[in-house]
Amino acid sequence: MAAFRCRRDPCGFVCLILTYFSVFYADYVVIQYVLLPAYSDSVWSTLHGSVFNLILLLLLACHAKAVFSDPGMVPLPDTAIDFSDLRSQSSRMSERGCEGWTVCSRCETYRPPRAHHCRVCQRCIRRMDHHCPWINNCVGELNQKFFIQFLFYTGIASLYSMVLVVSAWVWRIRNERESDTEKEGDEMPGKHLIVAHYIILLVESVLFGVFVMVIFYDQLVSIITDETPLEQMRNRLMIKDKSLSSATSLPAHTRKPKLALLREVFGRGSVFCWLLPLNSSPPSVGGVIYSALPDYDV
Ligand SMILES: [Zn+2]
Ligand SMILES: [Zn+2]
Repeated sequence: MAAFRCRRDPCGFVCLILTYFSVFYADYVVIQYVLLPAYSDSVWSTLHGSVFNLILLLLLACHAKAVFSDPGMVPLPDTAIDFSDLRSQSSRMSERGCEGWTVCSRCETYRPPRAHHCRVCQRCIRRMDHHCPWINNCVGELNQKFFIQFLFYTGIASLYSMVLVVSAWVWRIRNERESDTEKEGDEMPGKHLIVAHYIILLVESVLFGVFVMVIFYDQLVSIITDETPLEQMRNRLMIKDKSLSSATSLPAHTRKPKLALLREVFGRGSVFCWLLPLNSSPPSVGGVIYSALPDYDV
């Protein structure tokens, strides 16, 4: 039930509808105006149609997983917690090996290291990256893999549709030059419609393609550097504060191998499994490993 709290954002609803509309529009134009006219007599029509639809299917599957998966919501306590004795509670938690846990005043609960409160979801999310309206959900520890896969397949689909549209357009121009030139007035309305669809799909592909590739790159950098955007911002502020106050050494950041960091997100399976929207095995038996990061406040 907790996952459905994220569905109340109107911007998220609009972005979800826009995503589905863009995917189905791209499929319609590619099939109706690119593949059928340009490759109608060859096996390329079936081949390109199958591959393109497979990419779109994977895109939608990853998107659905990112939308409906729990991003890693910190559970709310069954009973109200008394925070009046916060200092002694914190020391007790440290004794139990729960260093780095903080208190969220809005959720009124303790939260593990790297968890942040999302104002849209109104919950604390473990290793929260950001709240994404395109999936109407937070990107967090448990669904970041699906979000990155969604970006990957959107980028591939955008590139593929660009190549198909441009090649079909070139084919159409060449075909028109070679064929009859005397009855060019007869097909003008149809021609304009096709060109309009080509232009709209090209603009859509360029916009979405560039957009997702930039976010895809940011996501990979944040995994490899083991810092979410929120942590990057906080660390930058800490560096600025330190340099302003004194030249004391900065807190040491955990340095895990890049492959280990990628496996924490994409699972321990083979690299081929990283491309599929399958639930990966948890990073450790009996729970999730939290990186040792300095404590921070709400
Ligand atoms: Zn919270
Ligand atoms: Zn959120």
